[in-house]
Amino acid sequence: MLTDYHLHLRPDDEGTTAERYFTEENVDRYLAAAAEAGIEELGVSEHVYRFHQALDLWSHPLWVENANDDLDAYCEFVRTTPLRLGIECDFIPGAEEQTAALLAVRDFDYVVGSVHFVGDGDAAVDHDGFDVWAGGEDAERIWSRYFEMLAEAARSNLFDILAHPDLVKVWGRERRPLPEGDLRRFYEPAVAAIAESGIAVELSTAGLRKPVGELYPATAFAELCVEAGAPFALSSDAHLPEQVGFEYDRAVDFLDALGVGEICVFERRSRRLAPLGSRVG
Ligand SMILES: [Zn+2]
Ligand SMILES: [Zn+2]
Repeated sequence: MLTDYHLHLRPDDEGTTAERYFTEENVDRYLAAAAEAGIEELGVSEHVYRFHQALDLWSHPLWVENANDDLDAYCEFVRTTPLRLGIECDFIPGAEEQTAALLAVRDFDYVVGSVHFVGDGDAAVDHDGFDVWAGGEDAERIWSRYFEMLAEAARSNLFDILAHPDLVKVWGRERRPLPEGDLRRFYEPAVAAIAESGIAVELSTAGLRKPVGELYPATAFAELCVEAGAPFALSSDAHLPEQVGFEYDRAVDFLDALGVGEICVFERRSRRLAPLGSRVG
């Protein structure tokens, strides 16, 4: 079994309206790409901030600008297709109740929880326009905050899958500073929270398309997850059909090398493990 659960039917750019992208023709392009790559389980997880209901959780300027679509219309549309119904939902500290309420009344197959924005302000680890790295804080502090929030996201029990677990490295060492030394001091408390909560850890090939050029999570992080008994969910975070199953041969080899022989499969927010397949595309 191969899955691709964390994917988007459209790029994050301006002008990518629901009318243009939430169509049968566009879904068919993703299904064809999945079939070619031997991916049996395909699901969509649109960013929560593209729906006006997200403004109940947060009023970040990026969210206000992007909250144009209706979440229920999205859910209805996805249920007319063979895709699993998911959503990528940011962990917003202090908005746990509102987040739980938004998720509970819809019949998602899974919820991908993510941390992009860190700290009290508007700044994100991966966004040029709201760049936490522009604030003059050192890498040690930013990484600590990121992984503290990741642990909180896991412990919130709001989510089924923890997205791109070490996203904070996205820019690579050339573009932004990295903390010194052994990075396991950042990973360990987050992995403890992952183990405690039972959340699935996303193995994402998206980092291979980013300046860092690595899978999420790093090998040392993934090893700690395996030791802690955490299960993995496999995704590409595709924003285009041609990114479905992106570099899955590397992901499968990575899991094989860790001795991970099973991945998570989701339906109506319940999870089972299935044997990890091999890439055929
Ligand atoms: Zn994300
Ligand atoms: Zn995503």
